[in-house]
Amino acid sequence: MRDLLRDLRSIVEHERAVYGTLLPLDDSSRETARDADAPPTPNGNSQPTEEPEAGTEDASSTQDAPTEADAPNTNTTQPADDHTEDSSVPSAKQTPASPEPSTTPDDASSDPMPNKDLFGNRTRPPEEDPTLPPWERIDALVPEDAPYKNAETLDEVEQYLADTVLVPIDEDRENPVFGVGDPHADLVIIGEAPGRDEDKKGEPFVGRAGTLLDKILDAINFEREDIYITNILKSRPPRNRDPHEEEVDAHLPILYKQLALIRPKIILAVGKVAGNTLLDRSSSLSNLRDKKHDFYGTPLMVTYHPAALLRNSQWKRPTWEDVKLLRTRYDELTDEDS
Ligand code: URA
Repeated sequence: MRDLLRDLRSIVEHERAVYGTLLPLDDSSRETARDADAPPTPNGNSQPTEEPEAGTEDASSTQDAPTEADAPNTNTTQPADDHTEDSSVPSAKQTPASPEPSTTPDDASSDPMPNKDLFGNRTRPPEEDPTLPPWERIDALVPEDAPYKNAETLDEVEQYLADTVLVPIDEDRENPVFGVGDPHADLVIIGEAPGRDEDKKGEPFVGRAGTLLDKILDAINFEREDIYITNILKSRPPRNRDPHEEEVDAHLPILYKQLALIRPKIILAVGKVAGNTLLDRSSSLSNLRDKKHDFYGTPLMVTYHPAALLRNSQWKRPTWEDVKLLRTRYDELTDEDS
C-alpha cells in the first residue's frame, strides 16, 4: 500500500513538473457545441411566433407567376418552406458552421498554442479555428480546386459564374444572379434562390419579395447600395422549387468566396432554406430566428423571407423585431471600428 501511495505521489509530481498542473481527467470542457445558438436575445421580445403547420398556407407565388410557389421556392418533394413548420428540409450542406467561438474555453487567450499540437501541426481545420479572422475561416470552406479559389475580386468570381455550367439549372437560366451591392458591405443579406424576375434581370430580390425587402431595409435605414444582397443559389430552379442538394453543393462555395471577399460584419439569412443551409441544420424558422448564430466567426441572424410575409402578415411583427435587432447589432459592430 505504501509503495502504491509512493508511486501515485511520484506520478503527480511528475505531472506537475511537466504540465504545471494536473491534467484534466476528461476534455469535455473544451468541446464546442455544434449548435451554436446563444440564448434568446435580450431585446424584450415576446416568444417567437410559431409558424403554422406545413401545408396550411397558400402556395401562390409571391415572387413569380401567381401559380408558382411562394417563399421563395416551391418544393416539389418536400413539404415545407421557410414559412412553414420546421419539417424536413434537409439542409443541403457543406461544412457545418462552428459555434460562437469567443465563449469557448479554448480561446487563444487561454491556450498558448491554440489549435496546434506540440509539433505545431493543426489540430482542427482552419474554418473551425476561432483564432483566425472570419474571412479566412470562410475562405477555407472554398475547395482548393475551385477555379475561383484565389480570386481577389467579386468580379472575377462573377465572371466565372457567368461562364460556367455547374449544374443543369445553370444551363436553363436566362441570367446568373450573382449578387448586388457594396463589395465591402458590413451587412450581407442572403436569400434562397432567384425567382422569375431575378432570372430575367440577373439581380437578386427585384420581384414583389424584393420590393418588400427594400421597404424593410428602408424602415431600418439601409439603402440597397449600403449592403450586399445575394442568394444561396445563383440560378433559378425550375418552377421555383426548393434547391436540390447537388445545386447547393455546386453554388455554396461561390457564396463562401463572396463572403470571404466582402468580409461582412453581420449576415442576415432570410427564410428557412437560407438559414438552415448556412447553419447546416433543419430547423423551423421560429427556432432559427431571435437567436444570435455564429457563422465561422461572423454573427448571423435569420428572419422570415419577405415572400412569406406577403402571404402571412402575422410574421411581420416578429420580422420587425428581428430587423430592429439587426440594426442595433450592425450599429454596435460597425461602431466598434470607428
Ligand atoms: N427570393 C429569394 O430568395 N431570392 C431572390 O433573389 C428573390 C426571391
